[in-house]
Amino acid sequence: MIRASCHCGSVNLEIEAPPTEVIECNCSLCRRYGVLWAYYALDQVRVLTSDPPTKVYVWNGRTTEFQHCQNCGCVTHWSPVDLARNRMAVNARLMDPETLASARIRHLDGADTDEYVD
Ligand SMILES: [Zn+2]
Repeated sequence: MIRASCHCGSVNLEIEAPPTEVIECNCSLCRRYGVLWAYYALDQVRVLTSDPPTKVYVWNGRTTEFQHCQNCGCVTHWSPVDLARNRMAVNARLMDPETLASARIRHLDGADTDEYVD
């Protein structure tokens, strides 16, 4: 198990395994956030929040909730509105640098074709 946390420590994530690859996406939102996404099934991640809880931004046809720490502002993860989708992503920038360094970075053309361009 590995852990990830926002800068202030209000939001902690317990993750079943380190990512083998992380996704850099060039869509209008991800390029502004500057995040690297590590995808997981919902039961592979536990989100532990203290007060204040995460703030949610919904975009992309209301299918995805982008979550931020209300205190320090870090983008922590996204989760599906419909939990039957059983897919979420953690911002791998919140993981230890050593953990992130061992993952392959994939480049997703989310702005246009939705295909990997590497
Ligand atoms: Zn925080």
